[in-house]
Amino acid sequence: MPNLPTSHDAQLVACSLLIAGFAGHAALDASRRLRGADKRLAARWWIAGSLAMGSGLWAANFTALLALALTIPIGFGVGLTGLSWVAAVAASAMALFAASRDKLAWPRLWVAALVVGAGFAAMHFLGVAALDMAPRIAWNWQIVIATGVIAVCASATALEAFFLVRDTRRGKGFQLASAGVMGGLICAMHYVGMAAANFAGESTCLSEDGLSGHNLGALLVACGVGVVGVTLLVGQFETRMRARTSGLNARLRSANERLRQRALRDPLTSLPNRLLFDKLLSKALKRLAAAVAEGRDGAKVVVLFIDLDGFKPVNDALGHAVGDVVLREVAARLRASVRAGDTVARLGGDEFVMLMECETALVDPVIAARRIVEAIGQPIPTSVRSIQISCSVGIATYPEHGPRERLVAHADAAMGEAKRAGGNTWAHFEERLEGPRPEMLGLQNDLRFAIENNQLALHYQPKVDGRNGQTHGVEALLRWIHPEHGFVSPAVFIPLAERFGLIGKLGNWVIDEACRQVEAWSAQGHRMNVAINLSVHQLREADLVERIEQALLRHHIDADQLLCEITESVAMGDVKATQAAFSGLAHIGVLLSIDDFGTGYSSLSYLRRLPARQLKIDRSFVMDLETSSDARAIVSAVVHLAHDLGLGVVAEGVETAGQRDVLVGLACDELQGYLFARPMRAHEVLPWIAARAAEATAAAAALALQPAETVPG
Ligand code: C2E
Ligand code: MG
Ligand code: MG
Repeated sequence: MPNLPTSHDAQLVACSLLIAGFAGHAALDASRRLRGADKRLAARWWIAGSLAMGSGLWAANFTALLALALTIPIGFGVGLTGLSWVAAVAASAMALFAASRDKLAWPRLWVAALVVGAGFAAMHFLGVAALDMAPRIAWNWQIVIATGVIAVCASATALEAFFLVRDTRRGKGFQLASAGVMGGLICAMHYVGMAAANFAGESTCLSEDGLSGHNLGALLVACGVGVVGVTLLVGQFETRMRARTSGLNARLRSANERLRQRALRDPLTSLPNRLLFDKLLSKALKRLAAAVAEGRDGAKVVVLFIDLDGFKPVNDALGHAVGDVVLREVAARLRASVRAGDTVARLGGDEFVMLMECETALVDPVIAARRIVEAIGQPIPTSVRSIQISCSVGIATYPEHGPRERLVAHADAAMGEAKRAGGNTWAHFEERLEGPRPEMLGLQNDLRFAIENNQLALHYQPKVDGRNGQTHGVEALLRWIHPEHGFVSPAVFIPLAERFGLIGKLGNWVIDEACRQVEAWSAQGHRMNVAINLSVHQLREADLVERIEQALLRHHIDADQLLCEITESVAMGDVKATQAAFSGLAHIGVLLSIDDFGTGYSSLSYLRRLPARQLKIDRSFVMDLETSSDARAIVSAVVHLAHDLGLGVVAEGVETAGQRDVLVGLACDELQGYLFARPMRAHEVLPWIAARAAEATAAAAALALQPAETVPG
């Protein structure tokens, strides 16, 4: 029986090629965005890209089918036509999924191409099968296999093009050419596939009443328009995202700059702060070492420690605003009394230091000290009245009064001596002024046994929700009750533990004890989140993640109930260790927080790459909130940026209601500080929460009663 003569409508053939190429272009466009940092956005690109690519290729395939001119009227069954679309979208989804992974090695690329190619071949043959012919289409199986091979090759080419467009910055021309090749290959698959189908001479089409002629044409136009629409949307979406990202980057840069300034300068006086002073001192000492090496005898570095006498009463009696005027004036006078090249810094409160690099032994620091005492002793005019204040100056000289790391402490000790002499004078450092530092003597030895001897405890400080005042989490803070010295601050013994290799043991105790306590609270019916502090040494421990995971399992608590705080300077100091530990912890679902934010050389852009969930704004910013517009601007910028980056913000060291109000106004998520509660023992936490809740309920009830009382009677 002779076969039904077949031919193709040239215009529709061209149309199918165009649509296939266009779909390829849209898919390549989407593939570039599948690996963005924002997982939700990437998932949306994947769905949109799969729909655009699948619908486009399906439309191209059907346009080509429509181009087939048989001598009898034909139509396509709706069910199989729909299935063919599903196959196209599924194959596209698989292709784009493969494109979202790391570049595939050859064997894996071909496995992926096989799967995707099978999908596209299914799209084609389901489309042809939608032509319900009687008698059935006779297939030439060799050509069917050839069609499959072309489909797999087309898929491999598409995948390779995805990787090239994504990973190398090739231009639009390359993308267009790739899209053309992809479209051409898909069309080639179609036309070769059609050659495999033989229609018997007196065939009739049973699905003649299905999708045919105009219906199908309209459907294809709709699909084409759909692809165009999705692609346009994708483009618009991208433009908006780009604008948002570039805006975010600009704000990141400016906030970084302000943070850097802030990290190095005292906001009240604009003098260098302790951090910058320490750096300048180190540099000066290095230069001195070089000078000595060159044989310049007599060169020295002098530190003057300046403390105001009786500043606190001025502050208390006349208020902080007047206190600030005095401090600014003192700063100005100190600056005016130094030689060019000397440094004046403010360490905090009413403490200032001066750094002098002296080329020869002839420079006498006493002259500088006398000048300072005279300058500060002049009356300081303020809006209230003129204030007379004096200062005490301590002098320490390197190398005479070394070692270098004790130089400032020695100048401080000398200042104490000047104060004991009645103030308004200066004193040189002497050996006898440095008393023994009892807390250091033998302390590290005792620390070794502190765990065994049950001298350690965790105290817990509540974190209060900025919106509703509720408490869902606490920070665990380590306490050491020494049998002789009593309470030893973690600021003293944590560095000691780090120096003497005890921090691992201590840290492990903290991890386990905090988890045990959360379990105990659970048993009392209270689900509590706990934050622990990690030291940099712990971050470097290979088994940190495993150890935390085991503690969670042992105490039956969820990973998201534990939050690990890492001080910003630590996180920035050892980027590699931080990143490795962060991703390990994030992987097991433990939340991460950057502590003391704003005190290190923060790179917000770097923070962006860490899987942290929270920033804790350092106490020094919170302290200045009520008085310094600069601190307010920085906190506001940090809160906004953190929110834009998807991070929660905690403010620590909240001590006054004024600070709380400013922070709540700035949309800070959680607040922590003495205003709410000091760190407390574990058994005090739940009663504290209950008492606060009862207070809140009573306050709400009083508020509800108020209108009734004011009703005119
Ligand atoms: P941190 O993690 O920044 O903890 C906050 C510190 O601020 C705590 O001091 C807390 O008592 C104090 N604080 C809280 N609210 C206020 C306030 O309103 N005003 C003032 N002036 N201070 C407030 P603490 O307990 O002395 O801890 C000092 C640091 O020691 C901690 O700073 C943390 O870095 C470290 N640390 C504490 N426990 C551990 C621990 O278990 N492991 C490690 N590696 N470090 C710890
Ligand atoms: Mg902390
Ligand atoms: Mg902190």
